[in-house]
Amino acid sequence: VSELLSPAEAAGLIQHHCQRLPTETVDLSKALGRVLAEDILAERDSPPFDRVAMDGIAIRYGDLSHTTSFKIVGVAAAGHPAPALTDPFTTVEVMTGAMLPQGADTVIPVEQLDVRAGMASLTANPTITQGQNIHRQGLDVVQGTRVLSAHARLGIADLAIAASANQTSLTVAAQPKVLVVTTGDELIEPGRPIEAWQIRRSNVHAIKASLHNQGLHTVHDDHLADHFEGICARLASAFAAYDVIILSGGVSAGRFDFVPKALQHLGATAVFHKIAQRPGKPLWFGVAPSGALLFGLPGNPVSTAVCMARYVRPSLDRLQGRLEAEHRAVLLETSVHNPSALTLFNPVMPTSHGTFAIKSTQGSGDFHALQGTVGCVEIPPNTSLAAHSLVELYPW
Ligand code: AMP
Ligand code: MG
Repeated sequence: VSELLSPAEAAGLIQHHCQRLPTETVDLSKALGRVLAEDILAERDSPPFDRVAMDGIAIRYGDLSHTTSFKIVGVAAAGHPAPALTDPFTTVEVMTGAMLPQGADTVIPVEQLDVRAGMASLTANPTITQGQNIHRQGLDVVQGTRVLSAHARLGIADLAIAASANQTSLTVAAQPKVLVVTTGDELIEPGRPIEAWQIRRSNVHAIKASLHNQGLHTVHDDHLADHFEGICARLASAFAAYDVIILSGGVSAGRFDFVPKALQHLGATAVFHKIAQRPGKPLWFGVAPSGALLFGLPGNPVSTAVCMARYVRPSLDRLQGRLEAEHRAVLLETSVHNPSALTLFNPVMPTSHGTFAIKSTQGSGDFHALQGTVGCVEIPPNTSLAAHSLVELYPW
């Protein structure tokens, strides 16, 4: 076992082969989940003017030592220039989002006012502080500040930030072209009649869903029998057409596990085969003559899921130049003991108090146990961890 790579060593070798993809421009409405390839700077201060933060009246604070009733001389609505406040004891009715009238320095909310016959009077005796209910110009962001950074994945709020910075489109990393190839004579599509010795073809759905979740929506897939020549024939043309080929099944030591042999027959370089981990130990990784990354995932569904989370997803991020890692440290719900020389990857579910609980499986074929899990945690070899220890979580 000791001569096998550790997960970190394997991930390092994969990373080393991830060449950043070119950039392209996408419409703002298509940018969610893409990896930004440029810095975005604030077009203006935010707020761009002293902005009224409550519906009410704008006054001069100093007037309050003389009166609690103000003559209304104008109105300031959002989207219109505001009238100025010039004479003492006068006020401008103001709406949320309006520009603060020049000369005013305090906004009193409508709930504390009695407005009638062109006068606004304080009702109770509210505490009023100078400058209240005004969102000052530039308080959040100063013009020219970097509001979005290159190499970050664009999230929901980021699209609003980009729009506010006057962007209609964004320069992002191109997405890798991905082919998913499942292998196995036993696999039958859902919806087709099935024999006692056959298995439903399910991995492709988990793999593609994981890719969709990562923003990759156009992923091709194919299924191949356990047949050396057949695998070679299909993959020969795929090398040049895709950046990443994810294969599931056929990488173990069985007589009909032809995937590594076929890939090498086609000129691919094997970077490694097997990692000191469970599940997912038989993972094969190589590079095609075209530069395409080739992942040979073991077909047992839990192994496939673990290898997707720990190795494939991070490399897809890397190809797009994403800097921040998707995995993160989380707290274990209970203690865990890994007496083996292999790193363990355990599926986990979030608990109601912020920790993650390990869900046990009946081995790497037991994918029904993955229901409700969000990813897997990495438990180093020969290690005992107490409850509430920090471990790395890799999302599915
Ligand atoms: P293999 O890695 O090809 O030896 O497959 C290991 C186990 O995983 C076998 O029991 C397969 O039937 C099962 N398996 C392989 N590929 C899939 C798949 N695409 N969907 C569901 N089960 C699979
Ligand atoms: Mg197989």
